[in-house]
Amino acid sequence: MLVGLLCLSSGLLPSSAITITTTWDWGTTPVDDPNRVNVTSVWNSVVNYYGSTFQESYVDETWNISVSWKALTGNQVANAGPSGDWKTGAELMALATNSTQIRTGVNYSSTLANHLAKSTVVTGTHIELNLNSTVTWDFSTTSKAAGTESLYTTMIHEIGHGLGFLSLVDNGDGTYQGGTPSIFDYYLEKKDVTSTSLIDMDNDARKAATTSANVFWTGQYGLDANGTPFKIYAPNTYEDGSSMSHLDFTVNTSESLIMFPSDSENPPNFSYSATELGMWKDLGYNVVPEPNTWMLVVVGGGMVLCIRGRRDAKA
Ligand SMILES: [Zn+2]
Repeated sequence: MLVGLLCLSSGLLPSSAITITTTWDWGTTPVDDPNRVNVTSVWNSVVNYYGSTFQESYVDETWNISVSWKALTGNQVANAGPSGDWKTGAELMALATNSTQIRTGVNYSSTLANHLAKSTVVTGTHIELNLNSTVTWDFSTTSKAAGTESLYTTMIHEIGHGLGFLSLVDNGDGTYQGGTPSIFDYYLEKKDVTSTSLIDMDNDARKAATTSANVFWTGQYGLDANGTPFKIYAPNTYEDGSSMSHLDFTVNTSESLIMFPSDSENPPNFSYSATELGMWKDLGYNVVPEPNTWMLVVVGGGMVLCIRGRRDAKA
């Protein structure tokens, strides 16, 4: 008990926490720009949050994240995505000592591949995160002022995409980017008169599903945590960078969840909801607290995708 208290008071993370390494690109930002201190401080809080929430499956499991701070074009607040090779479920099954969480017929982003293989099968940069230096950011980790964007929740959100909270459906023709669905896609179904898994649809039907406003999550941990079936964001007009890879706003009408496409009118969450933690567990990660006990576009080698837009003008 005493040891536990000492650990808590000294702020040490559990020994099984994920390790995160960061490579910074400050662009033309001057070395003495005070934003560097602010951004770095918020980032360190994000690293601590992920370290206290995602647990390693093997010793020294590490996420290598590249972070840039520069002006982004258009209306982007930030964007991010997995980097490095994707691995198939079959490849990972051949490597894993316990393959019960791995599914064939789907692709896994690099951090998930390592986690499930229980070894570093993908080296180098795993996630690329770009932050728009021209946005009016709020650097608090517990509040957000009106008219600003929360850097803290934006970082958590974007890293979420980099970890694989991401559909690979191409809404142009209904195929999957790279030809294979992601594990995220595996858990999507369209519900109307009947329920049909998106991976079982032909391309035309899948394309139609992306604008059906009727796409639901089927992962059992997410469902158990949420209590009722819940929707993935798939509005009738397709939104590049937002559709299919976020939670629908109907999932929570009193709080703005981390994986909403943009902030809702409600107070923001500064950590993942139980529903989101359940989804992470469905995807294959080890997260704490246990959700059920708690109440782009990727092309080839893979890069960025999601754009988190401003509420008044989603990207
Ligand atoms: Zn997003």
